[in-house]
Order: sequence, then structure tokens, then C-alpha cells
Amino acid sequence: MSAFSAVDVITAKRDGGALSDDAITWMLDAYMKGDVADEQMSSLLMAIFFNGLDPRELLTWTDRMIASGERLDLKGLSRPTVDKHSTGGVGDKISLILAPLVASCGAAVPQLSGRGLGHTGGTLDKLESIPGWRAFLTNDEIREQLESVGAVICAAGQGLAPVDRRLYALRDVTGTVESIPLISSSIMSKKIAEGTNALVLDVKVGRGAFIKTLERARQLAQTMVSLGTEHDVATVAQLTMMNQPLGRAVGNALEVTESVDVLRGGGPRDVRDLTIGLARVMLDLVGIDVDPESKLDDGSAYALYRTMIEAQGGDPDATLAVGVCKDVFLSPSDGILQSVDALSVGVAAWRLGAGRARKEDPVSAGAGVLCLAREGDFVEAGQPLFELFADDEEHLARGRDAIAGAVSLGEEPVPHEPLLLETISK
Ligand code: URA
Repeated sequence: MSAFSAVDVITAKRDGGALSDDAITWMLDAYMKGDVADEQMSSLLMAIFFNGLDPRELLTWTDRMIASGERLDLKGLSRPTVDKHSTGGVGDKISLILAPLVASCGAAVPQLSGRGLGHTGGTLDKLESIPGWRAFLTNDEIREQLESVGAVICAAGQGLAPVDRRLYALRDVTGTVESIPLISSSIMSKKIAEGTNALVLDVKVGRGAFIKTLERARQLAQTMVSLGTEHDVATVAQLTMMNQPLGRAVGNALEVTESVDVLRGGGPRDVRDLTIGLARVMLDLVGIDVDPESKLDDGSAYALYRTMIEAQGGDPDATLAVGVCKDVFLSPSDGILQSVDALSVGVAAWRLGAGRARKEDPVSAGAGVLCLAREGDFVEAGQPLFELFADDEEHLARGRDAIAGAVSLGEEPVPHEPLLLETISK
């Protein structure tokens, strides 16, 4: 006889009640053992979607997710560890630059990452466009690379918060992804299990982000910062704008090339500024008083990037793939660019072949979009606004259709939008 019944737990939450710690623990453990069925867990997720979890329930729920798997032991490294997580945006290649940059300032950066799904790209997909680069490392290899190089970007192992994979798959098909307690516990259980001392969250807000309003982004950030702090992970969140793509490049190899440009002291201003801003917060959290800008400009961050890529079998000098089928999208008229819609550009890159619809789909290294103008720019009729790259004509045609709605032109000047909206700490 078990102490709880799944139906009682579901109905308690459905009716707006708070679940006891024991009920939460039992439900998640029983689900992992196969004693609670997918349809029962789906019902509970929907009840949580509508009625939420209070702070105590959320803490217990997150603890149980962490306890469903292993915790990486990063104690005993000679440098403090600090990681960054982004909630996902279009052209968001910041991790590729930030991890070696922060490591070149003296911290260790365990950047355990995922793949892209839908219109946002994944860090691993981007790095896999580098010939030879290996995403899968053992826990011992991660520790060893953190000690010897200072930065590692690799696949989050299957052992970290394994219940999240099953819950996420259910949420994906039951309309329960967009719940603040479920998103927070999903992200933070994996980051806490990773064993980092400190964490900076880049919570994206706007048309190209999955959180569209500042108010919800603030709630999500506050919830995640509280969870991190309660687990002794020094956590700060930055809310950053994601209305137009970050930088010019959207697509796997294209984004690696742009990241290298920034690491070599050039590249788009917004990518450089956001990376330096996040690096400052990360270094501050672990008490390192080094100016990251100087490490970008003196080549230290680029040198560390090369070592990091080589340590995982990649050739930092390799020529990267570029889609053989190309097209240019021209401005239909004169005017001021009122918007360059990140969501439409992300969808276009996805249709060109850079992203996947299902997690088992392959991605193209060379497909993607280069954005040649930004919001507020004056453009002339016939001026190139986007360059599109695909591996074949069929993907190119799909991308061309998707990009057509990405820009709107007008006569009004467009006020400059700050990239950093707010910083949230405990
Ligand atoms: N990313 C995650 O890891 N989990 C979520 O629920 C949403 C985004």
C-alpha cells in the first residue's frame, strides 16, 4: 500500500490546495519508477500550470528533481566556478565568447549546454559545425578540462536531473511549457546539479524570446534567483531585450564565425557589449577583480577559446561550412527599419535548415541568415537586408518565404532600445 494516491495529489492541486513535501516527493519518485502514469503526471502539470506552486512547494519540487539524478562534484578546483544560462534567443551566440572570456580572467566556466529546438539555436549545434569538435565528455573529462583550460562547453549529461527530460517531453505535448514554476525548476535543477558556485541568468524578453513581457520575465528571474540562492548558488539575473536578433549572424557556422570576430576584438557592438556586461557580473559573483574588456582586446580570450576547442578535438582554424545555395533579400522601398523581427528571422534560419522541429532531426552547419541592417537604419529600395544560406534549393525557398515578413518600414525615427533592461539579484 503506498502512502499517497496520484489522483488525490492531482485533485488537491486542481482545487488550488498546497501539496505537502511528502506528497511532492512521492509523486516525482513514483513517476520515475513507473508507478505514476504519463497521463497522471500530465494532469498534475496542468493543475500546476493553472494554480502554481508556492515557494515551499517549488523548493521541494526542485530538490526532488535534483535528487532524481547525480550531482557533478566540482569542489577542489583551483578556481571558483561560474556559469551562465540563457533562456534562448535568436542569434544568441554569447556562450561561445563568454566561457573563454571569463576563464581568461581567472574563473572556471562549466557551460553545460543543450541543442536548439524550434526557432532558437543551441550552443552545441553551433560548436558542432567545427570539424572534429566533440560535445560529449565524461564527468572526469569535464573536471580535468576545467582545471587545465578553465572553460568547457559540452552536452549536459543524461545523469543530471533526469526527471526533467521526462517532464519536459510531457510539457511539450500538453501545452504546459509556459509555467513559471515549471520553467524555473527545470532550468535550476540542472544548473544546481551541475555543481557551479555561481550563476548568471540571461532572461530574454521580447518578440524573439519565449517570454514576451517584462513583467513575466521579472517573475521568472526572481523565482530562479531565489531557487539558486536557496541552494547556495550565488545567482543574478539580467533581463535583456530580444526583439531583433543579437548580432548579424543567425545559424550554426555563421554564429561561430561571428563569435570568433568578437573574440578577436571586432564583431557587432551589441554582441560585444552584452558579453562584456555578463562577464562583469559573473566575475563579480566569484570575487575576481579583472576587467574582461582588456582580455578581449589583448587576445587572451581568443587564445583560451582556441585551447578550449582543441581540448575537445576541434580545429579552430578549419574552414567552416557555408550553404551552397544563396539568396539576398532586398528592401522593397526606401524607409526607416521599424522592426527586424527576431522571431521571423529565427523561423527563416530554421526553415533554411539551421534548426530542428523534433529533437532527433539533424541540423545543417552552413544554413542561416546574415542580417545586414538593424532597427532604426535608413535603407533604400533594392538595398540588401538579409543574406540567406541553405544546402539546397528547397530549403532556400522555404527560408525565403519566412524572411519576407521579418521587416517593416516606415518614416518615423526609431528610438534606440537598450539591450540590458534590468538586473535582479537577491
Ligand atoms: N529551458 C529548460 O531547460 N526548461 C524549460 O522549462 C524551459 C526552457
